[in-house]
This record gives sequence, structure tokens and C-alpha cells, in this order.
Amino acid sequence: MQGVGFRPFVHGLACSLGLAGFVGNDTAGVFIEVEGPAEKVERFVSDLGARPPPLAVVDKVSVEAVEAAGDRGFVIVPSEAAGEHRALVSPDTATCEECLGELFDPGDRRYRYAFVNCTNCGPRFTIVRDVPYDRPSTTMAGFPMCPECESEYGDPTDRRFHAEATCCPACGPSLRLLGRGGAALDGDDPIKAAAALLLEGKVVAVKGLGGYHLAALASSPLATEALRARKHREDKPFAVMAADLAAAREVGQIGATEEELLTSPRRPIVLLRRRPGAEVAPAVAPGNRYLGVMLPYTPLHHLLARELGAPFVLTSGNVSDEPIAYLDGDARRRLSGIADAFLAHDRPVHTRTDDSVTRAFGGREMVLRRSRGFVPEPVPLPRPLSRPVLACGAELKNTFCLAKGKRAFVSHHIGDLENYETLRSFEEGISHYERLLDVRPEIVAHDLHPEYLSTKYAVRLAGAQPVELVGVQHHHAHVASCLADNASTGPVIGVAFDGLGFGTDATMWGGEFLVADLLSFERAGSFSPVAMPGGAAAVREPWRMAAVYLDLAFAGDPPGGLAVARDNAARWEQVLSLARSGTNSPLTSSAGRLFDAVSAALGIRYRVNYEGQAAVELEQLADPEEHRVYPCSVGEGEPFRLAGADLLRAAVDDLSAGVDLPLIAARFHNGLAGAVVAGCERVRGRSGINQVALSGGVFQNVLLLGRVLDGLARQGFEVLVHSRVPPNDGGISLGQAVVAGARKAGGQ
Ligand code: ZN
Ligand code: ZN
Ligand code: FE
Repeated sequence: MQGVGFRPFVHGLACSLGLAGFVGNDTAGVFIEVEGPAEKVERFVSDLGARPPPLAVVDKVSVEAVEAAGDRGFVIVPSEAAGEHRALVSPDTATCEECLGELFDPGDRRYRYAFVNCTNCGPRFTIVRDVPYDRPSTTMAGFPMCPECESEYGDPTDRRFHAEATCCPACGPSLRLLGRGGAALDGDDPIKAAAALLLEGKVVAVKGLGGYHLAALASSPLATEALRARKHREDKPFAVMAADLAAAREVGQIGATEEELLTSPRRPIVLLRRRPGAEVAPAVAPGNRYLGVMLPYTPLHHLLARELGAPFVLTSGNVSDEPIAYLDGDARRRLSGIADAFLAHDRPVHTRTDDSVTRAFGGREMVLRRSRGFVPEPVPLPRPLSRPVLACGAELKNTFCLAKGKRAFVSHHIGDLENYETLRSFEEGISHYERLLDVRPEIVAHDLHPEYLSTKYAVRLAGAQPVELVGVQHHHAHVASCLADNASTGPVIGVAFDGLGFGTDATMWGGEFLVADLLSFERAGSFSPVAMPGGAAAVREPWRMAAVYLDLAFAGDPPGGLAVARDNAARWEQVLSLARSGTNSPLTSSAGRLFDAVSAALGIRYRVNYEGQAAVELEQLADPEEHRVYPCSVGEGEPFRLAGADLLRAAVDDLSAGVDLPLIAARFHNGLAGAVVAGCERVRGRSGINQVALSGGVFQNVLLLGRVLDGLARQGFEVLVHSRVPPNDGGISLGQAVVAGARKAGGQ
């Protein structure tokens, strides 16, 4: 990777051993020539890979003997720019301990300077415009170094040797606090002034690494409710930033894995079990047992967090579901109705990048949104590709993926491809990656859904360039993504549960059992298809799914007095007749829609304000101590059908009998897990395959995932789950890339 302080490390190592020679970057990585006594040279080679600087990743060291050149001293030679292969730009990295020390040292020339960074930390991916990674090709180009910074930059023994983004108060970017109208606010310390506003309960827009955030004091009901109302975000949880680990412990429960994730240089948002009595207003994460918490990752965040002395909401700077604002003018236009003030600066953001979201599960990481801090680090592929691939991803939580050889570059989180602005970031992102990574795709993979904007993009591209198109079924892509995540190639029993994905029979799938490898799949089973009355309307209004499932489960005669029927009486019959006649009612085998039906039937949620809300609330309500299981029958056909209606009937019977909702919610989860295990046993019996891969957004539900893992382990299955890429549609592009690569390698 570039800009991680590897050459100075080599320089230091060679000098300490008294070796002569040189080190440089070329297009393939780092090259080094050393000469000196044999045992010193051997020592040099063994130390090289053993303790590299924090951000450096040593893939491989190859050694070759050459004639001694009679060199004296050790030098760093200039980089070479052109060429086919390029060293990688590293991800944005949280402020390191040494820079943090300077930030809070009154004697340091960078004391309280919000842009302090070095070769071990700071902005990278978000500021790079082009390669090779040097200052003129970043958004720091407009800040010529002062003589002092220049001398650190040129000194191989300095931590800032060739630190491309290095700067100081004399030469670097500066902070400003602006009012709604864009006028500078009084006061000579923008951080103190911004903190004072936040403490008063105001909302402040803060320019971060990958774009603007909106900040509000987390303990203030007034501020957090105002933020929700102005952002038009009704229920989706906000993330919170805490000054340090100790402050994070006040609001969330932190085990060893959570601690590791919170303090890692990636600094993602980590989902923590909320601490009872935590001083966090209800509007931060309504009805949720978990809280998304992150630690400061830029000097600006550190300064603000210390000044405030209390956790604060830090959520994407946008209205509703628009992409996060990252250009200054655009941010002021779009956010002036939300923020009372803007804590801004003059270092441009080149690529809009959201915060990553992750959680610990079973002592491992499970990434839910892989973005800032992760990208553009590649995911290694289980099998090298013979030709470069672009995979366009899905519609919701879109990422794209450029893959070449043994590496897959899964993009930052693009968002829901439902508007022009997001489509533009998708298209710009693809050309930016192609340039940075020097990859010209020859194969373009896409989803089978003809209406996805990502599919349309792929088709348009194929009309304009000589590329081969490969359509990859949505759930096959989920399973292949899980295989790639685990460096596996299958064959495997793939269980892909999600909201919706286009099937090969033109119905909407989403509760699938596949026998799959990277090349192909066969649908071994699924939930019994049911109607989705009104199509997309049934996704927004889970009560419609309750109506359909109740009709099925009770053969047209559900028990009277159900709240869901009473509360939605005005359109109940009309929706049922749509479903029965099949008018505007596509069929779906989706597990997500079954969750919706149960959530609505129990009166928990009739309409959703964000994707998956009804299911999330059902999970949050469930009593994890409850172990009774609802039955779910497995049909005899091929592909076999699971009767989701059995689970709903049992839930409604319990509801009528006055059983508490947390018990019903838990028994439903347990029943669904039982159905997964039964389905896998059926497939194993027929195929002899013992390995299971679990993928799809439904497996973000850790209660369900835990029950499924327990059940599968009891039956002797070996199970793969996601870790490095999300189980949700953010992981689809990786799956598409490996499937397309495998098909084209096979000459199909
Ligand atoms: Zn640093
Ligand atoms: Zn300077
Ligand atoms: Fe999906």
C-alpha cells in the first residue's frame, strides 16, 4: 500500500544494521537492494516481514541475490508512477497515539490542530483523486507545505517522512463555525463554540472524513427529537460518538471483541447492547436494545468529544434516505433546514464515504456496512480470476465490486439506488475505482432484476463497450458472497433469507435453500410462495402480509377480535381480494415478508419507516430465555416447501390464548430456526453435502442466527457465516463477481 511509512521503516532497519543500498516503490510494490555482511542481510530479511509499521501489510517477501554494487549508505529513491499494476491506496485511518499526544500537548506546534496526521494515520481514500498517491493527487493539493512541514516530510527518520497529507496550523486547512446562512459565527475557537451550541441543545453539522454528519447531544430529548423531525427520519437508530472507551462503557456493554472493534484503526460504528440507565435520550434508538457507538477517528472528533464531555449523536448529514452531503455548498443548501450551525473546514472530500457499521458475534466480527476505514482494502478471492470483472451489485445498500486476479475490491457503501444522486455516486465511484486500481473490466455482472438501476447500468455499459454480461441470481450471489468471505468454493447448502430478490421463475424469492458452488446453483427448497398484495405497498405495509398469511393459516377463517384486522379494517377485504385473485400481487417465498406478517399480526408494526423495521422490532421484543419452538412442516415435493403459515398460526393461537408477546416472538424465532435445520437436513439427505452457508439480510438477526447455529451444530453441520462482507445486499457485488468469474473461466 502507498503512504503507510514502509520505506522509512526499511530505511531505519537498514541503517540500524549498517547495510548499504536503496528502497523505492514501483508499480508492483516495494523494491529493496541491500549489501553488507551475510548475517546482517539475513537478519534484515527476517525482520522485514516480522514487525512492519502499523498500516503496512506485507503480502510476500521475495529474495534474490545480486552482485554487490559497492553502495555506501542507504537511500530512499523516488517513486515510479506509470505502469499496469499499482500499489494500493490505503483506507482512512484513525488518529494514531503519537498524533493524539501532539494534539493535546500545549507545547507542540500542532496543539489543538484539527488536521494533525502522519504516515501512520489520517485521511487517505476519501481525499485521493488519482494515483500514484502523493500530495498533488489528493485534496491536499491546494495546501503547499510550510518549510517546517517540508523538512519533516523530507526526513527519513521523521514520522512524517513522505506523509502526503501532513500539515500544520501554518500551512494546512482550518476550521470555521458558520451560521445557517453561511456567515462566520463569533468566537476564535470554533470547537469550543460548536460544543457550547450542542450543550444548549442545538444541532450542528460537522464536516468529517467522508462527508458531513449531524451532531446533537445524545442525552438531550429536545435536541435528538428535533434532529429526527428535521431529518424526516422517524425510527431508524442514530449512532453515538463517545470520547473514549470509558465513556463508551457508560452507554453500552463492551466485551473483548467489541473493545477490539471500537478501538481498531478502522473505527467503525459498533452495535453494543445498551446499558440500562444509559444517559441516552429515547429518540436516539427508539425501541432498540442495541446502540451504535463509535470512538473519535479524526483530531476534530477528539477535540469536540473532549470539549463536550458527553456522548453525542453523529449521524449522516442528509435528509431521509438521500446520500450523505460531502460538498460544502451542497451541504449548506441541503442541511440548512436541519442544522443550526456548521462546523466546517476547507479540505475537500473527494469521495463521499459513510461510516462503517459492525458488530461482534460469537467472538468474531460481522460487518453490516463496509465503508469508511475498510475501503479500498481488497477481499482475497478463493480462486484467481482469469479476466477482470465489474459486479454492479443490488438495488438496496448497493456496493459495486471490481475484481482482478486474486483480489476483489468491494466499494464503499453507495446506498439505495433509487434516485439520481445515488446513481451518480455509483457511476462516479466505478470510474474512480477503475482509475485508482487500473482495472478495465472485461466481464460485467448484474442482478437478474430487470428494473434495478444497477442492472440497467450494466446493460447500458455492454451497449457502449466490448464487455460480456453475466446475470447472477440474487440469492446465488448471497451464497457465493458468503463462500468468498470464508475463502471457500463449495459446494455448499446455501440458506439465503432476505427481503426480496428476483428468482429464475420471475417470482420474488427470499427464503431459499440452494445447493450451490461458485459456478452454479440448484433451488433445493424454499418457503411456500404467498401473494404480496399491492407489490411494493406490501413491503411498506406489513399488515398486508399479515392479512395474506392469516387467510392461508386459517383457511379463510381467522379468529375474530385480532387487533391487526380491526386496525386495518378499512382496506382489509380489498387487500385480501387482491391477494386471492392475484391482481397486482406478485408471489414471494421471502422470509423477510414472513417476519413482517408475524410482526403485524402481533400488533407490533403495521407500517415500516425503514427496511426491515417490523422484523427488527420483533427480534428486539423476543425473550432470549424462551426455548419453546413453534412447528413448521416441510413439504415432500422437489423443491420442498416450508409452510411459513404454520409458524404464523401458532403465534396467533398463542396470542388468542393471552401468551405474552416476548414469548411468542421468541417461539417464532425458534420455530424458524428449526425450519432452517429441517430444510438443511432434507438437502443433506439428498446431496450428501454437510457444509451450510448462511446469507441474506435476515441473518443480521442475531437471535435467529444464534438459534440456527446451535441447531445446525447439534445435527453435525459445518457452518459458514459472514464476517468481512455484510450478509445483507451490501455483500451481493462480491458474490456476483466470483460467480461471473467462475462462469467465464469455465468458458460458459
Ligand atoms: Zn499519526
Ligand atoms: Zn506546515
Ligand atoms: Fe438480498
